[in-house]
Formats: sequence, C-alpha cells, structure tokens
Amino acid sequence: MKENYGVHQLKIPLPFPVASVNSYFFPEPIPTLLDVPPMGDYFMKTLEKRLNAVGSSLAEIRRIIITHPHIDHFGSARDIAEKGGVEIWIHETAAQALEEYEEDFLDTNRFFESLLRKSGIPEELLGQTTRFFDWLKGFACRVVPTRLLKNGDEFRLSSMNLRAVHVPGHTPHCMLFWEPDRKIAFTGDFLLKDISSNPLLQRPWVVPQGYRSVTSHARSLENVRGMKLKVAFPGHGEPIYRPSERITELLRFMTRRKKQIRHILSTGAATPFQIILRLFPGLPPDQLLLALSEVIGYLETFEDEGLVERHETGHGLSFRLMDRQ
Ligand SMILES: [Zn+2]
Repeated sequence: MKENYGVHQLKIPLPFPVASVNSYFFPEPIPTLLDVPPMGDYFMKTLEKRLNAVGSSLAEIRRIIITHPHIDHFGSARDIAEKGGVEIWIHETAAQALEEYEEDFLDTNRFFESLLRKSGIPEELLGQTTRFFDWLKGFACRVVPTRLLKNGDEFRLSSMNLRAVHVPGHTPHCMLFWEPDRKIAFTGDFLLKDISSNPLLQRPWVVPQGYRSVTSHARSLENVRGMKLKVAFPGHGEPIYRPSERITELLRFMTRRKKQIRHILSTGAATPFQIILRLFPGLPPDQLLLALSEVIGYLETFEDEGLVERHETGHGLSFRLMDRQ
C-alpha cells in the first residue's frame, strides 16, 4: 500500500477461480485483521509470514473484523482465535451463518442443488458443481462472533476513524468500513477492481421477505457512489483509485445484463440454464452457481416489475416475457 494510513495489505494466494484474497492488518490500537483467509495450514503459514514481514505475528492478533461470511474472508477465524482473547466482529445479520456454519453450508448446498436441477442443468454438470461446492466447505468452520456490528457503528483502527456501512447485495450481510474525512474505504467483496461482484441468490427462508439480491446490490452501489470515495481497498486485487467511476461502470453493466436477458427471452420462454448457455458460452462448472445466481437474480427483479412470469412445475422452472399491450 503506497499511502501511509498505518494499515498493511496482506495478499494471500487462493486455490479458487479468484487468485488471491486481501487481509488488512491494523497494528493500533489493538492488533486487528480485517478479513482472514480460508482455514488450513497453508493459509495460516502464509498469513503468519505476511504478518512477520510487517513486524507482527498471528499470536499478537486480538481482533478480527469480517466484511461478510464467505470462506475466503473468515475461514481461518476460529483457528486464529483458538488461543482465546480474540474478538470477532461481523454484521449482526451474519451471526447465524458463522455460528452454524456447517448446517448453513449444507442448507445452501441443498437449495442450490434443487434450483440447479429445476433450472435444466444436465445431471453430469450438476454433479461437478455440487462436488466443487462440497470441496469448498472444508475451507472454514463455525466460529462465534463477539460483537455484532450495525450500520453506522464507529471505531478507530490505526490512524483511521472508521464507520461501518451495511451494503447488502453480494450477500445480505456485506459491510464496508470507511473514513468519511479522507474518503477511504475497505470494501470486501462489495466493490472489486477487475471483477464485477456477484449478487448471490439467497435462500428465501434466511432473508427478510422480499429481499432481492440484484436490487439490493444496485441500491448499495448507488448509496456508496454518493459517498464520493477517493480510494477503495477491496477484498481481492488492487486498490481502486476512482471508486465512483468503477461503480458507474458496474451499474451500467447491470443495465446491459438486464437488456441481454430480456433480449434472450424475447425469442420465447427459456429455462435459467438456456439463458446461461446464451449469456456465458463455455462456462466452467465452478462458475455455474455464480451464473445461476445472477440469471435468477435478474429474473426475480423482472418478476417484481411485472416483466416476466415464471412457470414452475415439480420438474422444471422457466420464464417468459409477459405480453405487453
Ligand atoms: Zn464473497
């Protein structure tokens, strides 16, 4: 990190489609990590090395703040906190996902498996996708948060007076932390430089009624654009020096995506998988869940707007454009 904000970006390589994850280390007033890599010896050793390089160590860490409950952002929290005396902070709505990680993961897996099947995914591809998902489960384990953060909470880390902002969309629990004076933010997966963060579809029974991932994400992007940030430090990749421009780009991309899906439906009713094949030809199986999330996320917003209707039977799910007058 070029600027001296008293924070260190620790980049940890990942064995996932996204090549690395960032943990941010704040030495003062309490040695704090903002996001921690997945669970496992390799990640603990790498994190230890990165901390040693900036004059600290895992044993000194007293607080872990988590931007959102994804394995590549909290997986090793339990192991780091094992020795005791380590605070763990996360948004109040994410407590259950952390405390009941295993059950939550299985429930999510079952939800997506059933949705994939209904969406017309061939069995072989379904098998590959669920195996990938099962493999991911081992990169984290349950951990109990000690402080549940709310939108607007304030605290000091190194030279910064940070304020927590709830930015639902990528998950319903995402938070970013910003310093209003210098307009610096730590954005987790909410805002990334080279990847458009996926508004992940949620199980309807764990989110407030009417929660829509795509609309929530767009609303959060609009809100954060209004903060006129100067620099954003994301959960993956390099800092973003013109965050508002990046947000405008992402909102335009969402508008284009809407048009593409409507265009596909203009040729007739389609299953989500048929839409995925048109939108993402040659998609690797480990990206299928993200694609499904995105497509169904947009279709849900179209449903809310009265643009499409869903046809769902015991065996399948398809969508068609409503007849317009
Ligand atoms: Zn994430």
